[in-house]
Amino acid sequence: MSPYIVILSTGSELTAGRSLDTNSGWIANQLFELGWKVKKFITLPDDPKLILSELQSLQTLAKERPVLAIMTGGLGPTEDDYTLETVLTLTGKTSYSVEKAKLRLTKIYEARGKEYKDILPNVFRQTFVPEGCKTLDNSVGIAVGFIESLGDHSYLVCMPGVPSEMTEMFKRRLVPELKKFYPRENLVQKTKWLWNIGESLFQNDFIEPNRIEFFSEAEWGVTANRGYIKCIFQSTNEPLLSTIIQRLEETYPKIISDDVFQFVHERLLKDKLTISVAESCTGGLLGKKLTEQPGSSSYFIGGFLTYSNEMKSSLLGIPMEWITTHGAVSEQVAKAMVEGLCQKTETDFGISITGIAGPEGGSPQKPVGTVCIGLREPNGNVSVHRYIFPGNRESIRENASNTALFLVYQSFKH
Ligand code: ATP
Repeated sequence: MSPYIVILSTGSELTAGRSLDTNSGWIANQLFELGWKVKKFITLPDDPKLILSELQSLQTLAKERPVLAIMTGGLGPTEDDYTLETVLTLTGKTSYSVEKAKLRLTKIYEARGKEYKDILPNVFRQTFVPEGCKTLDNSVGIAVGFIESLGDHSYLVCMPGVPSEMTEMFKRRLVPELKKFYPRENLVQKTKWLWNIGESLFQNDFIEPNRIEFFSEAEWGVTANRGYIKCIFQSTNEPLLSTIIQRLEETYPKIISDDVFQFVHERLLKDKLTISVAESCTGGLLGKKLTEQPGSSSYFIGGFLTYSNEMKSSLLGIPMEWITTHGAVSEQVAKAMVEGLCQKTETDFGISITGIAGPEGGSPQKPVGTVCIGLREPNGNVSVHRYIFPGNRESIRENASNTALFLVYQSFKH
């Protein structure tokens, strides 16, 4: 039976609106990908009475059905960190200091030129967990996470609030435990990306018409990203999932892809191909994305960051008159950029990006968001693609660099 899942975020900075609760959404998304749906988000201030009362309600609910409560925050060294204390009150247990965490803390202190005796008691407190619990190592920070029993098949997970600590702990330590607690061996998941389409359009055009045929036996979920939406389908009926994916491919033949970042990385490596970039409005973002995966030096040769017209001319050999005649953001300049780039780098793939990221610089003919992307393929073909991306400066730059990778993906596919 699937557990009743509740995510609790604690922190007065969250309820005061000074910090945004990004942990709950992140956890819910990860759980969905694992086949579990979250029932409720609860956000509480650093108030031990309130936290205890919520946990007691969940403990009572756990007498009727399996409950999984995932709580973040309050494991730190400051006086407003009440998680351990509250859980000890809830369970009537005592706590102990985890040896491994103590050693880690000592090493951190030594690396800073301090000794074991210098560790302040409140910092030391972060190594404590309830006796008999399952501990979750923290490989980023100090506070140890833990899993307590809430009843039959019911668990309370406590993790640090700091997102970088929590996400690492969740993926590396918690997920293997959850899979043991609630096995979902028959659940199959398929994920596809759709480019330059909104969530609501996708829901209208794909989910609604196919709701009766597909979605009584399959679950679906969408996450919106810059330039694409990620569509996740889950079911225990594998042939049905294949039919859904086939229908999706038939409906969106031109805009569908797999994870382009992974795919492009793997194919460039496998086919021993090289790539270089000439970037303007993205300011190196595409180069960053192409170098994110370990091993990228096998294919990424480098690039030119030609932000000004002078640099486009002097580094990529585009005549200034050409730039002033057509405008720096034009199909002609994007084409000349990628040709100039590949003459210099001699890579198999070349990508150029020139656009108006805004907020200034738009015109009726070329509004903010206009981006031209040039692509040179290994067979020597050069094509230019013009887009008008929505959103603010950051969104336009992300859209442009992600879409450039989608173009490389398409080149491999066709
Ligand atoms: P610390 O060791 O820093 O005290 P902690 O486990 O006690 O860690 P909190 O003190 O509750 O966690 O939060 C530490 C920081 O982590 C907060 O200042 C906030 O920036 C961030 N944080 C906490 N909870 C969340 C949340 N739900 N979503 C996003 N960020 C959060």
